[in-house]
This record gives sequence, structure tokens and C-alpha cells, in this order.
Amino acid sequence: KKIRVGVVFGGRSGEHEVSLASAQSVMRQINPEKYDIVPIGITKEGAWVRGADPTKLLEAGTPVALPEGTAEGTAHVVALSGDPTLQSLIATEEEDQSAIDVIFPVTHGTFGEDGALQGLLEMANVAYVGCGVLGSALGMDKEKMKLIFQQVGLPVGPFTVFRRNEWERAPETILDKIEQELGYPTFVKPANLGSSVGINKAHNREELIHAIKVAAEYDRKIVVEKGINCREFECAVLGNDEPIVSVVGEVIPSNEFYDYRAKYIDNKSQIVIPADIPQETAEQIRKMAIQAFIALDLSGLSRIDFFLNKDTGEVLINEVNTLPGFTQVSMYAMLWEASGIPYPELIDRLIELALERHEDRQ
Ligand code: ADP
Ligand code: MG
Ligand code: MG
Repeated sequence: KKIRVGVVFGGRSGEHEVSLASAQSVMRQINPEKYDIVPIGITKEGAWVRGADPTKLLEAGTPVALPEGTAEGTAHVVALSGDPTLQSLIATEEEDQSAIDVIFPVTHGTFGEDGALQGLLEMANVAYVGCGVLGSALGMDKEKMKLIFQQVGLPVGPFTVFRRNEWERAPETILDKIEQELGYPTFVKPANLGSSVGINKAHNREELIHAIKVAAEYDRKIVVEKGINCREFECAVLGNDEPIVSVVGEVIPSNEFYDYRAKYIDNKSQIVIPADIPQETAEQIRKMAIQAFIALDLSGLSRIDFFLNKDTGEVLINEVNTLPGFTQVSMYAMLWEASGIPYPELIDRLIELALERHEDRQ
């Protein structure tokens, strides 16, 4: 009997479109001998649409939102509130009453990558690919993530955190503190986001004020970091309690930093795999990646990102991404390809890890 995999994509996230592309890749490359696919789209409003076709949505041109119920004959919208058990939501009525064996969330960012969807799946007792509730939540919160890194001795760059209400109450105090503690340039980020959405680099006070206002539109918590003159490295981790780590890759952004444009739009950023760095540095990065994976209680997959400070030679950990871009040409997949695990096998392993973890927790 084939394993039924519900691929969940879209969602109430700034990374909705990125997710459609990841879902399309998974659905095209998954081994059809072994798996049956049930596509489950989530609209930008949060409605669940069964049978939605990410390929068609992408062809319609990005940015595109999932329509209310798709043209597909079998598709219909099930508002979660009207249907308390996920099992009944994801069992197809028409052709097959059998339930989904495992969910493959390829939802990036808010509500998909941050533990919310994972919590829902836990409650419904469904196996799912990737990190659990805690790991997902920690991986999404750039403040808490750094606190744990510091706790286990992983080097992070200088940063400060404040809330939107503090900013509104005493902006001058916050600006002075940032200038004294961090100086320029600084990076201003919404604490819980990804794909560089809402992130700006500030070179002076005027830009800093603007950057804080932008970040505050996305999140009630804002992280400001000292700008590091750096090269950027990433590596991929795969596994549960005995994770393995890929070779190290380098990202060379086409813009001043790796912003949303450089990531998804202008197609000029370069990826170098394996990275052109001394072997000791690569080993150090790989070791830190595993350490971070364990420290944050991650499982399944994660891409762990680093900065190499060009001025000091120091390696800093930047962040983890618990549901990294997952197309065939995304860094995560390419790192494994270069490490001897082709994309279809990667999907296979991730599903096995999900089932294993679910089994462990019964
Ligand atoms: P996201 O989760 O949105 O990818 P990141 O924290 O990785 O957010 O920041 C996005 C990009 O911004 C990084 O890949 C890097 O190019 C740049 N960046 C972020 N923080 C810093 C920093 N402290 N110093 C230098 N560049 C940074
Ligand atoms: Mg990120
Ligand atoms: Mg990043």
C-alpha cells in the first residue's frame, strides 16, 4: 500500500509564493511508486483548500493567492473552525476514504514554520515532516534562538531587542542605545519572519528610524544587530536524534545584502557548493550546525546559516531555518545533492524520519 502524503502549502505568510514553488517541486519529484500525494493549499486568509494545484497557481503568475476553492472538481474549502479534526479534513471523500499517513508541510514563515501548524498536527495525532512545536517556534524567533545559541556557547554577533510599545513610548532612548552599543551599519529585523521580509540595513539615524518603523509593521518585537562585514555560509542538517550534516555552501548575494530581491527576484545571487574555504573552517561550521540543531531541539530538517566575519575571521551563527526553501534548486536540496543525496531520496528520507519520530512519540 502506498503512503499517503498530504503536501501542505501556501498559508498566511509573507512567504506564501515561495511555498507554492516548494510544493510544486516536491509534488513533481516525489517517488510515485511509493507515495500518493494529496495537495492541501492554505489561502492567504487561512482557508484550507484540498486539491489545489501549486503549478497552476504559479503559472497564473506570482504573486498569486490561492482562490477560494479551486477550479479542480474535487477541491473544496474547509474552514478549520467548522471542522475540528484534521483527519476528517484531510481524508478525501470521493476516491479514497483512507486517512493521510504523513503531512509534508512546505509552508514557510508565520503559521507554517513557527510551530502553529505543527501544534495543530500534534493535536490531530498526524505524523509530519520537520521540526516539532518547540524547535519550529525557536527557529522562527530570532531573539530566543540567539539566547539559546549563547547558552550553549555558539558565537552570535552583538544584538539588542525591544518591543513596539517601547519604541512608541521612548524612541530616542532606543536610538541612542543602538548607536552606543552597536553603531552603524545595523540590521533591523522583525523577530519572527523569514525570506528577509521586513529586514533593512541602516547606515545612519534616519535610515535606522525608517527600518524600525518597517520592522514594527511586521512584528511587535524587533531585533537590531550589528552589521557584520561578512561572507555567508549555509549548511543542511537532516535527521532526528542522530542528525547528519551536508557540505558547506556559500551564498554570494547580488545586492548589498541577501534581501528578498536577491533571494527570489533578480536571479543574480550566486551559490557556491562546496564553499571555497579552508577545510578547518568548513569542519567548524559543520560542527556548529549539528550543535545548533541539537540545542534548539530540531528534527527532520533545517538549514543553518553562518557569517564569516571578514575583518576578524570569526565564524558567527546567524540563524536556523526549520522549513527552508525546498525546491530542487534551493540551497537545502543542492547541499544534499552535493553530499550524495539526490532530491527524490531526500523527500523519501524526510518522510521516513517523520514516521519514525511519530512512532517514537506514541
Ligand atoms: P531571514 O530569516 O529573513 O533570512 P536573516 O537574519 O538571515 O533573515 O537576514 C537576511 C540577510 O540579511 C542575511 O542573509 C544577510 O545577507 C543579511 N544580514 C542579516 N543580519 C546581518 C548582520 N548582522 N550582518 C550582516 N548581514 C546581515
Ligand atoms: Mg530565516
Ligand atoms: Mg536568512
